[in-house]
Amino acid sequence: MGKVAKGLEPTVTHDLVPRRTNCPQCGRHMRADYTNHRTLTTLTGVTRLNLTIRRCRNAQCAAHEKPFRPEAEGRFARPHHEFGLDVVALVGRLRYAEHRSVPEIRTHRVGRGLLIAERTVTNLLDRYDELLTVALTDDRRLKEVPAAQRYVILATDGLQPDMGREVLWAIRDVLRGEILLAKSLLSARQQDLAGLLGQVRDACSVPVVAVVSDGQHSIRKAVAEVFPDTPHQLCPFHYLREASRPIYEADRHAKKELKKEVRGVREIERQVEGATDTQAEVIRGYCSAVRSALTGDGRPPLEASGLTLHRRLRAVDASLKRVAAKGGCPDHCNDPRE
Ligand SMILES: [Zn+2]
Repeated sequence: MGKVAKGLEPTVTHDLVPRRTNCPQCGRHMRADYTNHRTLTTLTGVTRLNLTIRRCRNAQCAAHEKPFRPEAEGRFARPHHEFGLDVVALVGRLRYAEHRSVPEIRTHRVGRGLLIAERTVTNLLDRYDELLTVALTDDRRLKEVPAAQRYVILATDGLQPDMGREVLWAIRDVLRGEILLAKSLLSARQQDLAGLLGQVRDACSVPVVAVVSDGQHSIRKAVAEVFPDTPHQLCPFHYLREASRPIYEADRHAKKELKKEVRGVREIERQVEGATDTQAEVIRGYCSAVRSALTGDGRPPLEASGLTLHRRLRAVDASLKRVAAKGGCPDHCNDPRE
């Protein structure tokens, strides 16, 4: 297995936490027990996964001390692999759909900032073959599920590297993070996907209790066709990413507009420059409140910096109005940032 160059700084970091908080065996609450870290090479760059692991503490439970890893981990890479599924999918496509040689694939990747050895390309091709073999011959993997679990939760991902036509579909068992079925298709049509999902349904002897996906139209329809009564949830990762886009844009725009409104603060500061009376002090206090309101950028999608700015400026504004209502600034005028 090829190694990710050691010491490379991650360009992307994801903090993943298991969505499941109750033990699938005994139903008791599972505490976050410890964290694991993985560094992967993906098409986005060196990706760091900070993983929270939960374990069941019930000594009578069959799953006692069995680690439960974040469900979303499996969409990045297979267990113990150092390259993302997207890289594996791309290498497979370059080899089999575009008939590129191993050195060509290496050059292609190196040209895009991924430093890999030829031997790594060969390894990645093996991984790709492995994935597809799962689909072609090995439904033993599907039949193995019941021994360990009472049910499965499926996750469906379509990997479409580099805008190619081919899509590598992977159906995962969320609880174990293992890929149950993978197939490269030339399309993302509902009927092809339904075929794959049907294969999983038929081979699994435990019930599929839920399906998670990015909610793409064809997936939604295929899931509805094969699992009509099974809840289908949008993957929180995809959901948040998709949902945050328009919100982030709107928030950024709002922040820009708000900043325009307080542009005059510099002029006011200039006017009271050098003045030492109480009024000048108070004015400077308000100006610095406005300035400090402008600093600090919230990290999207969970912190909206435009909204934060709006809240802070409203507080300054309310304070100014209170002062105006009192007919000027009293001596006990407090810090307007309050
Ligand atoms: Zn348990």
